[in-house]
Amino acid sequence: MKFHVINLGCVRNLVDAQNLITCLKEKKNKLVDLEQAQAVIINTCGFIEDAKKESIDTILDVIDLKKQGKVDKVIIAGCLAQRYHEELSEEFHSEIDAIMGVPEFEQWSTGKTHALSPKHYRYVKICEGCYHCCSFCAIPRIKGSLRSRPMDSILNEIRSLDGQGVKEVILIGQDITAYGLDLYKQKRLAFLLRQIIKEIRNIRWVRLLYTFPSHITDDLLDLIAEDNLICRYLDVPLQHINSHVLKRMNRPLTKRSTVALIKKIRKKIPRVAVRTSFIVGFPGETAAIFEELVSYVQDTRFDKVGVFTYSKEENTPAFKYRSNITKPVMTRRYNKLMRVQQKISREKLREFVGKKVDVIIDEKDKEAENMYVGRTEYDAPEVDGLVYVHSRRKLPAGKIVPVLITDTLEYDLMGEY
Ligand code: SF4
Repeated sequence: MKFHVINLGCVRNLVDAQNLITCLKEKKNKLVDLEQAQAVIINTCGFIEDAKKESIDTILDVIDLKKQGKVDKVIIAGCLAQRYHEELSEEFHSEIDAIMGVPEFEQWSTGKTHALSPKHYRYVKICEGCYHCCSFCAIPRIKGSLRSRPMDSILNEIRSLDGQGVKEVILIGQDITAYGLDLYKQKRLAFLLRQIIKEIRNIRWVRLLYTFPSHITDDLLDLIAEDNLICRYLDVPLQHINSHVLKRMNRPLTKRSTVALIKKIRKKIPRVAVRTSFIVGFPGETAAIFEELVSYVQDTRFDKVGVFTYSKEENTPAFKYRSNITKPVMTRRYNKLMRVQQKISREKLREFVGKKVDVIIDEKDKEAENMYVGRTEYDAPEVDGLVYVHSRRKLPAGKIVPVLITDTLEYDLMGEY
C-alpha cells in the first residue's frame, strides 16, 4: 500500500512517526507524498486545546479527501487517538478506517529508522512517559509513567548515527533528567552522556531537550561546563515563579529554589543559554501574582522563553480548580509577557554582534546567493533562532564553521564566514 504520514505536535511525536514509517516500510508498504497516497495516517497531538484543534482540523481535511475519492483509507494515530479513542470512534466511525494509540507503534529507534529530520541532525529518544504529576498536564495519562530506554540500545543507535556522518544528536524525552530512575534506580543522564562522549567520533554536538528543574544534578551541570561536545543549552520548563501557583501546579520547586537553580546553572556553565516556558492564567494567578512573574522574567533575562495560556484539560487534577480568569485576560497576560521577553531577546541577540560563534549549517538559503542558514549551539532546530551566513565558500549541511556575527534581525542573527 502507498501511504503518507502527517505528523503533528512535538519532536517526540516526530520520533514516533519515524518508527511507524519504518514498521510500515518493513512490511513492504511505500511512503509517498499526500497526492499519491492510498492511506493517510495522521499522527496527532492531544496535549492542549490548540493542539487538539489542529489535530481535529487535519483529520477533517483528510476525511474530505477520502470523500472526494482521493484517498482510500484514513488512520488516526498518536496522542489524541490514545486520549480520546472512544470519542473519536463514535464521532468518525463511518469515515475513518483505524485508530491507533501510542503504544501500538511505540518502539525505540535504531540507526536504520526512517528519518524525518535532515541527515546531519537526529533526535534520539532516551525515555518515554513522565515521572511527574503536574496538576495541569495530561501527558502522564496519555504516555504513562517514565520508561527509560536501556543504555545499550541508546548507545547502539548513536554509534550507528555517528558512522553515518550525523553531526548533532538531540536527546529527547518528557523529562530526560529523570533518565534511569525506573530502570537503574538512580538518575543516569550524566553517566549516559559520558558513555556517549566516549563512543562518538564524528558527532560534534549533543543537545539535551527538556530537563526538569528538580532533577538537574551538579554532576550534569559540571559535565556540560567541562565538555565541548555537549551544547551549552538547557531547556528547563519552569511553568511559573509564584510559590503558591507552583504548589497548585504540583511542581516540586518553590520560588526560592527556582531562583537558586537558575543562578547555579549560570554560575556553573558560563555562556549557557537557558530556555524556559511559562503558563499564564493558571487558576489562582491573580493580577499581582502575574506581575510577580513579569518581574521575574525581566530580572532573570532568560535567553529564550515560551509562553502558553492555561488550557483546562479533562482528567487532570487542575480540571476541578475554579477560576475567574477569562480568555481575554489570559491573552492580555500572554501578550504582555511575550513583549517583555521580546525586548530581552533582542538585547541578548545584539550581544553577539562583533563576536565569532560556531554555527552548524542546516541548508543553503533558497532565496539569496552565497547565503546559508544555520544555528548556534544555543539554538535547537525548529524552535529557536537561525543564523544567516554569508559565505563565498561551499558549505555543506552539517558543517560547523566559525561565523563573525555582523547584525541581528527580529529573532535571528546575520554573519559572515
Ligand atoms: S513534567 Fe509535568 S508538565 Fe512535563 S510532561 Fe511531566 S507531568 Fe507534564
